[in-house]
Amino acid sequence: MDFALSTEHQQVRDLVRKFCQSEIAPLVQHAEETETFPTEIFRKWGDLGLFGMRYPVEDGGSGMDKIADCIVREELSAMAQSFATSWSAHSHLALWPVWRAGTPDQKERYFRAGLEGRKIGAFALSEPDTGSNIRELKTKAVKVPGGYRLRGSKLYISNAPIANFMLVAARTLPDLTSEAISLFVVDLPHSEIAISKLKKEGIRASETGLIQFDDAFVPDDALLGGREGSYPVILDSLSENRVGVSANAVGMARGAFEAALDFAKTRLVSGKPILNFQAIGHRLADMAAEIDSARCMVYYGAWCVDRNALDYATAAKVKLIATETAVRVTENAIRILGGAGIMREYPVGRFHRDSLVYIIGDGTSDIQRNIIARSFR
Ligand SMILES: Cc1cc2nc3c(=O)[nH]c(=O)nc-3n(C[C@H](O)[C@H](O)[C@H](O)COP(=O)(O)OP(=O)(O)OC[C@H]3O[C@@H](n4cnc5c(N)ncnc54)[C@H](O)[C@@H]3O)c2cc1C
Repeated sequence: MDFALSTEHQQVRDLVRKFCQSEIAPLVQHAEETETFPTEIFRKWGDLGLFGMRYPVEDGGSGMDKIADCIVREELSAMAQSFATSWSAHSHLALWPVWRAGTPDQKERYFRAGLEGRKIGAFALSEPDTGSNIRELKTKAVKVPGGYRLRGSKLYISNAPIANFMLVAARTLPDLTSEAISLFVVDLPHSEIAISKLKKEGIRASETGLIQFDDAFVPDDALLGGREGSYPVILDSLSENRVGVSANAVGMARGAFEAALDFAKTRLVSGKPILNFQAIGHRLADMAAEIDSARCMVYYGAWCVDRNALDYATAAKVKLIATETAVRVTENAIRILGGAGIMREYPVGRFHRDSLVYIIGDGTSDIQRNIIARSFR
């Protein structure tokens, strides 16, 4: 077992950290206030090879590993989770299933174009009535000559308002079984698909959509992998994504911790830095210890992914620990800043709002507990 990051991993971390400072930091405030994502950043991420970290070179990726992917995520999230979410919804949720199960043509049109940041992707699984219980999703794909017609709606879909393509989970058989769920890769915009943008408390700059399918026609070659029945692909994708979003959670926690530590060193009360108060020092100590332990869990999960040995319960444990850590740490950061913690000129309020998204998205903490408890039976 080796706990040290390799030279390549350190180089990735330094590259992304620099990129965040020079390219993302100047955009964050405006993007958050206008709740608009600056899509031109996708090409820059593509040029740096940041989408392809965990994908093999022969498929167009950078040929590194899941640890590298988690390093990128932590750095992006320590800057701004809304940017990290848009990156993640594209680089994992939209691209991974195409990489895993797409036809050669789908890989060329969506996966490779996506890696280069020439196309932006989204992944539409959740629905108004089925967020946690995805097996019961209701969107239908009805077979017609030359393709399918999609009918139904999807809710809370990251990147949907800015996407050029979207993976859509739909029922290809009338029965409510998981075998009846298939994935379609749908080009956007589409005249029979309406996408409206939602206003959110967290990750405001990441654009999230409500989608209505009005008997939307998609051709046969939109069916992922050319075959019906993609539920196992969805489950495996969500499982790996739980490790990924946990790295995002560590990044948010670290960003809030660093801001709180800076503040504690410089904020004077009765002429002394508040860091001198034992209560503040202890709070920061708890935060630092929790972040380090969550990061260890994330790297363990990534190590499992790289060995093709990630089981659902392990992924759920990683997500439960890391995302709940982010909520606690970011709240503690607000407490350390006092009144300043509520002001927008400091980032800790934003980190806390954003951290709440991650105890919900990709399965709530209760759903992670259900998955872990099921593994005991
Ligand atoms: C900002 C944002 C971005 C998102 N992006 C995407 C995306 O890109 N693609 C996508 O498909 N989805 C996306 N989602 C949807 C997300 O995955 C769902 O919101 C999440 O799975 C929870 O579903 P729900 O909101 O319908 O909550 P519900 O399922 O209605 O849950 C409500 C409450 O009931 C609890 N609960 C439900 N079922 C159980 C159970 N069996 N046992 C115990 N407790 C239970 C939950 O834990 C929760 O506390 C996004 C969500 C947000 C907020």
